[in-house]
Amino acid sequence: MQKDTYYVTTPLYYTNGTPHIGHAYSTIAADVLARFHRVTGNGRAHFLTGTDEHGQRIADVAAAAQKTPKEFCDEIVGRWKEQWRELDIAYDQFIRTTDPDHEAAVQRIFAMLRERGDIGPGKYEGWYCRNDETFWPASKLIDGKCPNPECGRPVEWVSEDAWFFKMSRYRDRLLDHFRSKPHWVRPQSAWNEMMAILESGLEDLCVSRTSVEWGIPLPQGGGTIYVWFDAICNYITAAGYPHDMVRVARLWPADVHLIGKEILRFHTIIWPAILMALDLPLPELVFANGWITTQGRKMSKSVGNITRPGELIDVFSVDSVRYALLSQAPFGSDFTLSEEGLVRRHNADLANDLGNLVQRSLSMLARYRQGAVPGRPQRSGLAAGFETLPASVKSALDVLDFRGCLATIWESVGVLNRYVEETKPWVLDKSGDAAALDAALYEVCEGIRWIAALIYPFMPTTAGAIWQALGQEGVPGQMWEESLRWGVLLPQTITNVPAPLFPRIEAAAAAG
Ligand SMILES: [Zn+2]
Repeated sequence: MQKDTYYVTTPLYYTNGTPHIGHAYSTIAADVLARFHRVTGNGRAHFLTGTDEHGQRIADVAAAAQKTPKEFCDEIVGRWKEQWRELDIAYDQFIRTTDPDHEAAVQRIFAMLRERGDIGPGKYEGWYCRNDETFWPASKLIDGKCPNPECGRPVEWVSEDAWFFKMSRYRDRLLDHFRSKPHWVRPQSAWNEMMAILESGLEDLCVSRTSVEWGIPLPQGGGTIYVWFDAICNYITAAGYPHDMVRVARLWPADVHLIGKEILRFHTIIWPAILMALDLPLPELVFANGWITTQGRKMSKSVGNITRPGELIDVFSVDSVRYALLSQAPFGSDFTLSEEGLVRRHNADLANDLGNLVQRSLSMLARYRQGAVPGRPQRSGLAAGFETLPASVKSALDVLDFRGCLATIWESVGVLNRYVEETKPWVLDKSGDAAALDAALYEVCEGIRWIAALIYPFMPTTAGAIWQALGQEGVPGQMWEESLRWGVLLPQTITNVPAPLFPRIEAAAAAG
């Protein structure tokens, strides 16, 4: 077997809390890529997400809640899955690091690396941040405290017998990989930062903990496996490594690992070194999305807490939130999410540009032609402009340019709106020019069908509503190449006028 499936992953989210907008951002991006590859790749896409459930931090929060760590995680995981359902996240696999299959596979990987001499005994002493479960070199500490800007807590001196992954052996190969594949870590700033770390040298990595009980036991006993080693192996254990190498061959290497930039070092230095030690190919791309800052921590009553995706959905709808997150900034850049910006995008791009186009066009078709699609005009004024769209969308998504992709699609929404304004079907109806009216109505409905297919990965609910209103069946844009040819919309198809796709949100209403 060889690789035949597009494989996209999110980070494993840590179950000491529930999803916030940053988690939603990475996960929606992964969902867009998976949906796009399902419709364009004959269904062959695999979207993996899940939860990282081991480590002292989980044990501590569980104890505080008077639960066992597993009980605590079971409850939290339910809330993560519920949140992904609400956001229309269609993952193919949800892995938990407490899954027995994963635990067994990680023990096997650990034992294999020991047999090969890539893991060996040593003594670990260093500054440890309990919150981040990370050892920091003294040179990285800021005022003697944890250097993670999100943390800054006091660190403690830890000294224990431990097992080490001999990562320093792989420094030269890692440097070669970075130099020969300068686009494998994105954005560029992330590649630069990791390259600088590699050039400054690489130490071996402590991969066991004697003092942490809540984790995967070391195969030889005497402690647990470092939570990061355990968690990062999920990308291959989920694919079936090492027990199902046929499945691994179909999925691995991953096409893209989507991550937050705070975990770059784990994904672009530690993880590839582990893969090299296992003789497995490296992921094609690691893409670190930026951080979202929210303007004004206290949002108005109706918007609630803007960092909680569930509360945003209640005000703006799922697709409006998905659109706002991916259209606002280049993927990889930080940006500020504001209530004002959300309202503006919702009303201008969605309610006005797209929602009105669909509503008025299908209303005219209902009024002038009883909702039946007219015959195809002999010559199309719109076809040439639309036929380049699928390639533009694909090349934008190939480099995860979600914003550019949406901008391209919205240019065509603009083309259709101008087309309606210029052809003036209401005038053609009055003047009795039936052929011209038929042509105008056919063209705009076919254009709307294309838009539904193109926005499907981003806005599945909206795309589905438009698709149904146009009397189409199945998933919008499925059989991509056959579907995206001008004139596929069949004359005499019966359409209906959908409920408004994006009711306007008055700024005053959103402000409570
Ligand atoms: Zn810390």
